[in-house]
Amino acid sequence: MAEVLVYVDHVDGAVRKPTLELLTLARRLGDPVAVHLGPGADEAAKVLGEYGAVKVLAADAPEFADYLVVPKVDALQAAHEAVSPVAVLVPSSAEGKEIAARLAVRTGSGIITDAVDLVAGDDGPVATQSVFAAGYTTKSRITRGTPVITVKPNSAAPEAAPAAGAVEQLAVPFGEQATGTKVTSRTARESTGRPELTEAAIVVSGGRGVGGAESFHVIESLADSLGAAVGASRAAVDAGWYPHSSQVGQTGKSVSPQLYIAAGISGAIQHRAGMQTSKTIVAVNKDAEAPIFELVDYGVVGDLFQVVPQLTKEVRAR
Ligand code: FAD
Repeated sequence: MAEVLVYVDHVDGAVRKPTLELLTLARRLGDPVAVHLGPGADEAAKVLGEYGAVKVLAADAPEFADYLVVPKVDALQAAHEAVSPVAVLVPSSAEGKEIAARLAVRTGSGIITDAVDLVAGDDGPVATQSVFAAGYTTKSRITRGTPVITVKPNSAAPEAAPAAGAVEQLAVPFGEQATGTKVTSRTARESTGRPELTEAAIVVSGGRGVGGAESFHVIESLADSLGAAVGASRAAVDAGWYPHSSQVGQTGKSVSPQLYIAAGISGAIQHRAGMQTSKTIVAVNKDAEAPIFELVDYGVVGDLFQVVPQLTKEVRAR
């Protein structure tokens, strides 16, 4: 059967959920072959095999950690040459998109970024994207080279499908550019204990209606009761109430969780651009005419300072 390369996103061998989603989607196209770079391949292979990887191509070298993305592109290109896949799937993170774009250039292939769904078509994979501030949904197919596709987190529910997951070492000939840009330091962001915004199954976001940084704990409490990530509108970020890393929207992050709760957010087109593909959308807004109500599955017209704490209490009681 045709093989599909899946780039593994992991932290020291702990495979992140978007990779399991990619393996699930990859099985629609062929046999997934995972590409694992860095330490922990043997441990990772157990999980990768559980989710359908027939093989795990592994390479570990200091270059992967010490330099920016080029060594990883070298490795993915080596895997591409070893396997001749029908498609290459990469998670739609900032790094993933850069790796995918560079691989597409090197292999003379077309690229689709930020796919939210993927199916097998008669002439190759067909990807669904949400474009123009989520105003349109497009389906596209790559007509040149090996399709390179980045897929947004939460685009598919990971489904186990045990396969061999046998580890094979991948020889990576690093090119001249591999060591061109060295990482000089890393600063860990202070952990909130909450899931990563773009990967979270639930996101609770606050906007200008929250009124100030000191009131954001109302949003955080609801998020914590649900095990959710916290997001914010640009108005709240620009006011300095919440960090830019939490901004959802056109100039912030794009999220696609199972559940998105917007509190005190009007629903401007630029905010929608980052959350409109969420599976279920709930809004709390005191203005019944707020545009956010045009796209919600459930809407509550009311003061968020009354509604959100009540909701938090209910969730905690369950
Ligand atoms: P507002 O539009 O002011 O809405 C606040 C809402 O809170 C109102 O609907 C009000 O009824 C409600 N409210 C007030 N008090 C309460 C209360 N006590 N209880 C319940 N509801 C209450 N925006 C983004 O979010 N993300 C982006 O990435 C982004 N990128 C942009 C890029 C460009 C180029 C431009 C021009 C704009 C961008 N914006 C972005 C800004 C966007 O246009 C809006 O200005 C912004 O989203 C508004 O944020 P908001 O909904 O929090 O504020």
